Amino acid sequence: MSLPSSHPSPDHEPLYIDRQAVGVAPAFAREMGEIRAQYFSRNPKLWPVFQDAGLARLFEARRHHAPTAERLAAYPHGPALLAGLKADCTLPAGMRAPGTQRESLLFAAALSKNWEDPASVENVVTMPSDPAIYGAMLGLAANPNLVYREYSEVAEELEKTVVRQIAQLVGYDPAEAVGLFTQGGTFCNLYGYLLGIRKAMPQALHLGLEHGQDYRIINSQGGHYSNTTNLSLLGVNLARKTIRVRVTASHDIDIKDLEDQLTACFRLGCLVPCIMLTMGTTDTFGVDRVKPVYDLCRKLTARFGVAHVPHIHVDSAVGWPLIFFLDYDFAANPLSINPATLESLRHNVERFRELRFADSFTVDFQKWGFVPYTSSLVMIKEKASLQALEHDPENFTYFEKDTQGQTHFQSTIECSRGAAGLFGAYSALQYLGKRGYQMLVAHGLQNANYFRHRLAATPGALVIARHNLGPSVGFRLYDPAVVTDPAAELAFEKQFDDSAVHRERVNRNNAYHRDVFLRRGKHGLYTNWVQFVTNSDYSATGAWTPIPGEKAVFMNPMTDFAHIDAFVARLHARRPEAGEGRRVKGEE
Ligand SMILES: *Cc1c(COP(=O)(O)O)cnc(C)c1O
Repeated sequence: MSLPSSHPSPDHEPLYIDRQAVGVAPAFAREMGEIRAQYFSRNPKLWPVFQDAGLARLFEARRHHAPTAERLAAYPHGPALLAGLKADCTLPAGMRAPGTQRESLLFAAALSKNWEDPASVENVVTMPSDPAIYGAMLGLAANPNLVYREYSEVAEELEKTVVRQIAQLVGYDPAEAVGLFTQGGTFCNLYGYLLGIRKAMPQALHLGLEHGQDYRIINSQGGHYSNTTNLSLLGVNLARKTIRVRVTASHDIDIKDLEDQLTACFRLGCLVPCIMLTMGTTDTFGVDRVKPVYDLCRKLTARFGVAHVPHIHVDSAVGWPLIFFLDYDFAANPLSINPATLESLRHNVERFRELRFADSFTVDFQKWGFVPYTSSLVMIKEKASLQALEHDPENFTYFEKDTQGQTHFQSTIECSRGAAGLFGAYSALQYLGKRGYQMLVAHGLQNANYFRHRLAATPGALVIARHNLGPSVGFRLYDPAVVTDPAAELAFEKQFDDSAVHRERVNRNNAYHRDVFLRRGKHGLYTNWVQFVTNSDYSATGAWTPIPGEKAVFMNPMTDFAHIDAFVARLHARRPEAGEGRRVKGEE
């Protein structure tokens, strides 16, 4: 498989090793400061809706950045309010005058997870932007129901507008593409699977999956766990009807293994309704290529005379904002992105150029799009794909016959669909524009590369999939007193070997890292433990084992190098000093 020339060779050190390559240019820092002040500050002068007394108190409380226990202790009557909430099971008998505060309401909002805290890097979650909150509020107040045109009116046009904008950005024909805002990235992927199934096996609409036609669903071992929840929900036999393709050392799909599996299916006359790819795995940002899979599907269906070409859905729930860079001038670099990040962006953007070869893909505005939950969009390249989901008109007796066929409601999984996510997304896109998104994405990537730079210089630390230069940084920590060469140690651990000696050494290393993780306390960054940060090599029979580790995801617009430095300073620290915060939650 020939890779784009910008692919950083596995033999070369990534640029982030060099301190010169990971600095923040003054112009970049200045613009980022303006973005924070204008779009992430909850400033009532800029966004007058935030002048409300309750909102003002909420934002004030959330300016306290500390681990949960500390915030609870500092909140006026915090522990008592929490105890009251937990004990409460009685509705108020009477009404309460508007304008009086419900302290419990405010308290619950204030003490919800604080994504505005610059240390919040646990996962693919962000604080929403001011314009997204504002837009979502308008959507909430108007309360359109996207199930049906008569209940949404112009909101439906807004949905089509966002779909056309994203279509144009990615390289779909905006006149031909369709899309739906739905309940999270999981549902977007569910639509992807369903589109493939209904296109390949139209009878499944009435007869289910087991009506006689043999089939296999294909996804990758690096895929998100929603693959499993969705296929199980659809009634797919996970053990017998699902093929999980191997991943490479970079955690992207192994195209050779995919070719072998597809060939075996077609040779046996077995349909492949859907191939689920991932662009941006949650923990290590593996990015599958789409064009080679698209070509492979066409080549093999022609060779075996298979009528149905597999539907390719790309789970780009996390990675999609890289499409804001498809026309970025990398030579002129107008945003002054630093060299390490520019190189990694160029490489990833080459891959995202292939997203247009997907038949459908997942867009989570609620992740790297800085829009409140839930705001997820499934994008579909061709109208005809969505029509394959249409149920018979007699099922929809309470909708006007005339409008049937003109809207999507016969094809949606849901009935009522809220519009707050749509309004939030539209508003964020309008106010931030392409440049705002480019800055925010580049900021996260610069932080991630700086974090990799620091880890690379810390004894005992090892970045997983060190050439995957997305926002997620998975790493393993080894006891520097015992392990002098972490890269060699991981190579040893990755050998598939179920001997007691091997197992004990992996367990010893796991125990060291886990212990450090638990005892470190919350300093600088709040990271997460992951059971499966990378995998062992494959045995002769294809068996493998997951290897655990730690991760940080850099999407937070408030995080700076100082937070990363504070974290790295205590990377191996075994015990919090007296009076320092201990980890209180989120340990699994
Ligand atoms: C988050 C995520 C999902 C699931 O999306 P939700 O919006 O949480 O339902 C699917 N795939 C990937 C790669 C994700 O990171």
